[in-house]
Amino acid sequence: MTLGIVTIFPEFFAGPFQHGILRRSQEAGLLKIEVHDLRRFTTDRHRTVDDRPFGGEEGMVLKPEPIFEAVERLREQGRPRARVILLSAQGRLFRQPLASELAREESLLLLCGRYEGVDERVAEHLADEEISIGDYVLSGGELAAAVVADAVARLLPGALGNVASAVRESFSGPPGEEQVGLLDCPHYTRPATFRDMAVPDVLLSGDHQRIAQWRRRKALEKTWRNRPELLSRAILDDQQKEWLAEIQGRKTL
Ligand code: SAM
Repeated sequence: MTLGIVTIFPEFFAGPFQHGILRRSQEAGLLKIEVHDLRRFTTDRHRTVDDRPFGGEEGMVLKPEPIFEAVERLREQGRPRARVILLSAQGRLFRQPLASELAREESLLLLCGRYEGVDERVAEHLADEEISIGDYVLSGGELAAAVVADAVARLLPGALGNVASAVRESFSGPPGEEQVGLLDCPHYTRPATFRDMAVPDVLLSGDHQRIAQWRRRKALEKTWRNRPELLSRAILDDQQKEWLAEIQGRKTL
C-alpha cells in the first residue's frame, strides 16, 4: 500500500513511523509512506496555504488551491486511484471495520487540516470522504493521520507476526465480517504473583478449552463494564447471552 500524507508540517512525521510494526512494514515493502509538504503546491512567492474566512469569523482556513493542486499532481504522478481522505472532526467516525476496509486499498491519500479547518470545497468536491478519529477537536490533522496510518498498517497482510492477533483484538469481529466485536480479554505475563496480586488460576492450568472459555467470558465482562453500547451491535452466541444475563444480574462485577 502507498500511504500519502499532505500536511503543512511534514517534519511532524519524522518520529511516528520509525518504530515497531510501521517501521517493519515499510522495511518489508508492505507499506510506502510519502509525506508531502502542502507549501510545495503553492504558486505565490510567500507559499501561502491559508487565508481569512469569509463571513467575518475568527482564525484562518486552509485555502483550496494548493490542496486541489497537491491531489491532482499526486494522482498524475502515479496514484490515479488513491482514496482521498480529509481528516476532520466533522467526519465519519474511524472504527475498526473502516480500518479493515482502508487496509484493502492500494493507495490512500490523507489530507491534514489546521487552524479553523479546510475550505469546504475540499470536502465537497475533492476528498472521497471525511474521517474523524473521535469526538474531540485536535489542533491539526497530523495526529489523526498518524492514528489512521497505524491502525491501517497493522492490518496489511503480513504486517503482524501473528495473524490471529488481529482477529482476537478489541472491536474485531470474526474474519470477513464487518460487525463490531467486543473488547479484548485481559492479558497477564510473569510473574504469576506480583505484590500479592495473583494471575487467575485458570491461565496456569494448561487446560486450553477452559482458558478459551475464560477469555470469552472476560471479554464480555470487560465490554459490559467499559463499553456496554458495543453489546447492542455485537452478535452473541447462546453461551455469551447466558453469561451476559448472569453478569447483568449481578449488577457489579
Ligand atoms: N473548526 C473545526 C471544527 O470545529 O470541526 C476544527 C478544526 S481543527 C482545530 C483543525 C484540523 O484538525 C481539522 O481541519 C482536522 O484536519 C483536524 N482535526 C481536528 N479534530 C479532528 C478529529 N477529531 N479527527 C480528525 N481530524 C481532526
